[in-house]
Amino acid sequence: MASTPLTDFSRLCIHTITTKPWSIEEATDRYAAAGVRGVTVWRQWLDGREIAKVGANLRAAGIEVVSLCRGGFFPSIDAAERQKAVDDNLRAVDEAAALGAPLIVLVCGADPRQPLEESRRQIADGIAATLERAGQANIRLAVEPLHPMYADTRSAINTMAQANDLCDAIDSPLLGVTVDVYHLWWDPHLRSQIERCGRAGRIFSFHVCDWRSPTEDLLNDRGLMGEGCIDVPQIRGWVEDQGFDGFVEVEIFSNRCWAMDQGEFLEKIKEAYLKHA
Ligand code: ZN
Repeated sequence: MASTPLTDFSRLCIHTITTKPWSIEEATDRYAAAGVRGVTVWRQWLDGREIAKVGANLRAAGIEVVSLCRGGFFPSIDAAERQKAVDDNLRAVDEAAALGAPLIVLVCGADPRQPLEESRRQIADGIAATLERAGQANIRLAVEPLHPMYADTRSAINTMAQANDLCDAIDSPLLGVTVDVYHLWWDPHLRSQIERCGRAGRIFSFHVCDWRSPTEDLLNDRGLMGEGCIDVPQIRGWVEDQGFDGFVEVEIFSNRCWAMDQGEFLEKIKEAYLKHA
């Protein structure tokens, strides 16, 4: 089934990193004024802040906290580093609870000094070690598969199939998946694996941007929807066919966009959201 066009901003969520030059206070004011209804807060934006107050200010401005980015980075060949990672994820749970974020997105990590299979085992162990605290705080965790170009250091989970396998193995109602079109658009099994994820009730969130061609920087050259080769509405349709009706989260790392006037960029985001998401 084709997706229905988005006609208003009731499902528009923006990641604070998308408008990186703005502090959380400025983002709160500017998003609210622009009619943005959801935000995913990156943890750096909470540095030095009273976290509960940030959450209260967002809600008072009519903005829902969709998730906290990010937990994860579990694997390491060094056991002490792995423990540090678990401790940091437990802190992320506490931060999400203070902020009022119901979900933490996990960028699972990888260590190039060891085989991917070992990193995947350590990811499963790290998630298992975080789940109890997450359950006590009533916070869900979402595994975000990353494009395989990041398999060396950022994530050993690179496809929906791997994320689904991981969720099957751990089998907790608190654990699901973030579908990000940037990381997954190329996968010939994407549709069937989104269906598998949906049947299990595990599509927890949905991130959009576009793949620019050529991509000039592997991390910080993501495009606005419509600027690249990803059929975002098609993938949104697959996710929504599974009953997903949550926020469409605009997450763009882009040196080009961060150099723009952020107010003008926000208007471009809104236009791209209606036309190309
Ligand atoms: Zn994402």
